[in-house]
Amino acid sequence: MNLKLSRRRFLASLVIAIGISCQPQPLFAEPSFVALPKIENSTVSPRLIYIENPRFPKVGIDDLWKIFQSAAALAKQHFGVTVSRPSHIQVLNIDNVFRDLVDNKPADFDSFIGDFRNGNVDWESVKKSLVEQIEKQADPLSKQIEFARPYLVRPLEEETVENFSNAVIETFKARLSHWTVAKLADGHPVIGNVPGLPDLPYNEYGYWSLMAKLGIDADIILTNQLVASVEYIDIPIHTSIRGGITGGSTEYNPSSRLGSSVWVSLFPYLSNDKRIVELRNGDTYSRNEALSYAGVMLAHEMGHQLYQLGHPWSNDACLMRPAEVLDFAAWAKKLDAIRCRIGSSPAMMPGVMKPPIW
Ligand SMILES: [Zn+2]
Repeated sequence: MNLKLSRRRFLASLVIAIGISCQPQPLFAEPSFVALPKIENSTVSPRLIYIENPRFPKVGIDDLWKIFQSAAALAKQHFGVTVSRPSHIQVLNIDNVFRDLVDNKPADFDSFIGDFRNGNVDWESVKKSLVEQIEKQADPLSKQIEFARPYLVRPLEEETVENFSNAVIETFKARLSHWTVAKLADGHPVIGNVPGLPDLPYNEYGYWSLMAKLGIDADIILTNQLVASVEYIDIPIHTSIRGGITGGSTEYNPSSRLGSSVWVSLFPYLSNDKRIVELRNGDTYSRNEALSYAGVMLAHEMGHQLYQLGHPWSNDACLMRPAEVLDFAAWAKKLDAIRCRIGSSPAMMPGVMKPPIW
């Protein structure tokens, strides 16, 4: 959920790939990063757009304002910044946005994306990268297993890296492929072809990153679309066990005065699909709860955008500590601005997590 550092490496790889195909850059050029924004008078005035997929749960303009207000209140409390209310919210149809992205994508772009819709994912290569992730973690294997165990689709026979990585991959695969079968209210799959509608990669994380890179005119992007995908990059365990769902992220955007734009998917808050509810620890949310938790997520991303803060995993009072799986209620309940000031830990130092420019 969130800007994931490892997903950042995806972008760093793209820098290299794009460097080879389009620009006269040396191979393995070091990527550059978005500068820390200068925030005058502790006030920002973001532009806000909403990208709507008419097939997905309906979100009205009043709902979007509630999300914005929830985020603005938290940004004030946790970061001391005033987020001015934009004059309006522009609503864009997702088909128009994605047609443009597909027409303007780099030549090699799709080679980073696992085609799970057609069952063409090289899971062996995803597993190889997962094993590397597991072995690189500061936490011992037993700790990593303890964190993931409640969410695995099958019990572990033995606590070995091999068994654990197999169980995580099975979980990733099962949770991700669920979306090609699970249906929306229109009777068609959440992710898949719908007769009469264009077949566009709405659910692919990479395209939401590309949208920012191509300079969409916004600082905050909200959408009702579910973003769930698998890329050939280092995917952390907590993303794998969610089945590749990304709840939002902060991306380099040359059209933003802040240097980056944030996007947040509202689907994990609004859907009552059984897999989503399971990852929310069995909770169903009232409309107002859903909108307020989505606002928490937006404020989290704005912490990445405005101050380039990282993820203080060990302090659950922090807005910048990601939620576990999709358990937003437990996450929001623990937040305490006084116990997690900017500068209070290495991950809470401004500029610690910079979006790469690609
Ligand atoms: Zn984050």
